[in-house]
Amino acid sequence: MNKVFNSLLRKILGGFYMTTTIIGFPRIGHHRELKFATEKYWRDQITQDELLKTAAQIRENHWKLQKEAGIELIPVGDFSFFDNLLDTANLLNVVPQRYKNLNLSPLDEYFAQARGYQKGEEAVKALPMKKWFNTNYHYIVPEFTKETKVKLVGAKLFAEVDEALKQGINAKAVVIGPYTLLKLSRFLGGKIAQDFIPDLVAAYSQIIERLGQKKVQWLQIDEPALCLDVTAAEKELFKELYSKILEPKHSVKILLQTYFGDIRDVYEEVAELSFEGIGLDFIEGSYNAELIAKNGFPTDKILFAGVVNGKNVWRNHYSATLELLKKLGTDAKVVLSSSTSLLHVPYSAADEDQLETGVKQHLAFASEKLTELKELDALYTKKAGSKQFLEKNDALFANVKHPYNPEVHEQSDNLKQSDYLRTPERKVRQQLQKKEFKLPILPTTTIGSFPQTRDVRQNRARLRKGEITRAEYDKFNEDKIARIIKIQEKLGLDVLVHGEYERNDMVEYFGEKLDGFVFTKNGWVQSYGSRGVKPPIIWGDISRTAPITVAASVFANHLTDKPIKGMLTGPVTIFNWSFPREDIAPKKTVTQIALALQAEVLDLEANDIKIIQIDEPALRENLPLRKSNWYKEYLDWAVPAFRLVHSKVQPTTQIHTHMCYSEFGDIIDAIDQLDADVISFEASRADFTLIDQLAAADFQTEVGPGVYDIHSPRIPSEKEIENLITQIIKKLPLEKIWINPDCGLKTRSEKESFASLEKIMEATKKIRSNV
Ligand code: GLN
Ligand code: ZN
Repeated sequence: MNKVFNSLLRKILGGFYMTTTIIGFPRIGHHRELKFATEKYWRDQITQDELLKTAAQIRENHWKLQKEAGIELIPVGDFSFFDNLLDTANLLNVVPQRYKNLNLSPLDEYFAQARGYQKGEEAVKALPMKKWFNTNYHYIVPEFTKETKVKLVGAKLFAEVDEALKQGINAKAVVIGPYTLLKLSRFLGGKIAQDFIPDLVAAYSQIIERLGQKKVQWLQIDEPALCLDVTAAEKELFKELYSKILEPKHSVKILLQTYFGDIRDVYEEVAELSFEGIGLDFIEGSYNAELIAKNGFPTDKILFAGVVNGKNVWRNHYSATLELLKKLGTDAKVVLSSSTSLLHVPYSAADEDQLETGVKQHLAFASEKLTELKELDALYTKKAGSKQFLEKNDALFANVKHPYNPEVHEQSDNLKQSDYLRTPERKVRQQLQKKEFKLPILPTTTIGSFPQTRDVRQNRARLRKGEITRAEYDKFNEDKIARIIKIQEKLGLDVLVHGEYERNDMVEYFGEKLDGFVFTKNGWVQSYGSRGVKPPIIWGDISRTAPITVAASVFANHLTDKPIKGMLTGPVTIFNWSFPREDIAPKKTVTQIALALQAEVLDLEANDIKIIQIDEPALRENLPLRKSNWYKEYLDWAVPAFRLVHSKVQPTTQIHTHMCYSEFGDIIDAIDQLDADVISFEASRADFTLIDQLAAADFQTEVGPGVYDIHSPRIPSEKEIENLITQIIKKLPLEKIWINPDCGLKTRSEKESFASLEKIMEATKKIRSNV
């Protein structure tokens, strides 16, 4: 009865029914206008007014684009000058006093938190930055202290709502919710999340009230943290917050929006609370469909169904999506939505006219996804004439032809257990390697790159523009290598690198040299603040057609008697920092990349490169949100992929890896199981937590914790580094320790890099002579 009634109602109301929305739109602008304007503002080249005007123009364009594409409920407040969590913190007065003391304009105070502030004597460091759930986007970590007084002070959200309403936009206001805010923030001075409940409740209630006065229909409250593991205590926190926030009568409908996974730990609680809408991710959170099948979906609420993937670039397969919606079988009203904010995909695939039609027609970036939602809606509600969308879409999927490489399949289908196993065991190898290389105790090295100075980038640009020949380009880089080898020798480093002058980016460089990738011209995705990345797209089977890094490493090797460390990006990082295929399992693709890199490693070895570093800075970031899935959904294929790359080398060939963070305490075992001989990691800014954890876990891989903070322009004193090393050797076995700076020398000036390395060498020599 209910069903009949509902469908009848839908028919009668037809177009009046609001049926499509998205969680958020990329804000950097079609041609990264926001980036360029913001950076100009930071350099004092434009005024604040000019920046604000550019921002308003970007918002207007994006709202208009959504409206014209037929999106009925348009997110407002998803725009940000840097980061949405920082926006929310500022809306709620969660701004540390040291930034307020600077007496800046609200926007400058905001930027000071995001990127630090320095003027003359006055200097305040930026708030920390972390990866946003399982993405390559970074958020600014808010800070709650004894002084923090949560209250609604910000004007940005309301101003943007006014602006949208004035333009005739059917606005859905967007804000990050109190639960996620508390989960992602730092608490200092003995304060805990619970201390802030009453004030948060008051502030969010006030937001709802203010939006009600503006006659906004919907408020989307983002709570992605509900897709993490939720403990009993956290569940209580969530319930307490929302039972109170939702208590007063309100005219604005409240949408609880979740994404990046399912909400199995709180589904029942969410269903019971008096939200008017619940937003669920049916892509990464496919288990949400089972939750609905098991528990039903409250018919008095609207289901915002995230069915269009906000994190990948492929076209939606309509028949599969319609099947999913049918399976949900709910009587509740459904609004079609994206699975996450579209922040994680580029602006428009229409820009990519250099791609073959065979590839291009399968791409859906943010703009194309809007159309997909509209078409799906038409199909879902059986609008007249919608059939053709389905037919066209089915034809597209029937004809998709990912380049197939039979040899690669043959190779990966026939892998045996032993292909993942390096022999002899590491303990034995480490002894053999000591004899082979005869390095001093506390051997010194760097993480690979040296400063990419202007001339290096210019050389690359010249080649791209055809102003120089390939030979001229190579010659320039060889001269650079020769120079940096001399410099490293003079500094006294023990294991040398070639400097990575030939690399624009650690993933793109490899992607360009492997079969199976395609590249975009304008496929920028925000990484943090004004910074973007342009991830390659994995389109076909991956294989290596020619050696990639061998020439540069061999060239360097001929110039010195010291060992040269070859330098590769690992399979998991290449995979995680690309847009992956969806027609085959991630494990398959990553195995293909691993096999290609294995060939490269063996080639390096055959060419006398006896130390090889395989960087995996992105290994940690794709850990599933739920701990119980870490191994079965991810590490169980990620770790073997890494092992596959180096399993066939000689016992005396030394394999290094590198990770860009010092927070792998919770996956120490998995890192040790990579079976590398040495790992370096970014550590100089961290406390000694990880080192203590490594000691406690009896970590077998030799370790090089970074002793120089590359992110700071400050040159450390020899004494400082000496103290650091002294601490480290107290905690870890001396024969297992390497000395190196943090990663990213390429971002520093040569002067700073060399001066800092000099200090590192002085400190190391001093300690060597004392132990
Ligand atoms: N080998 C790379 C470098 O030194 C590693 C970069 C990284 O850690 N992300 O730049
Ligand atoms: Zn790094």
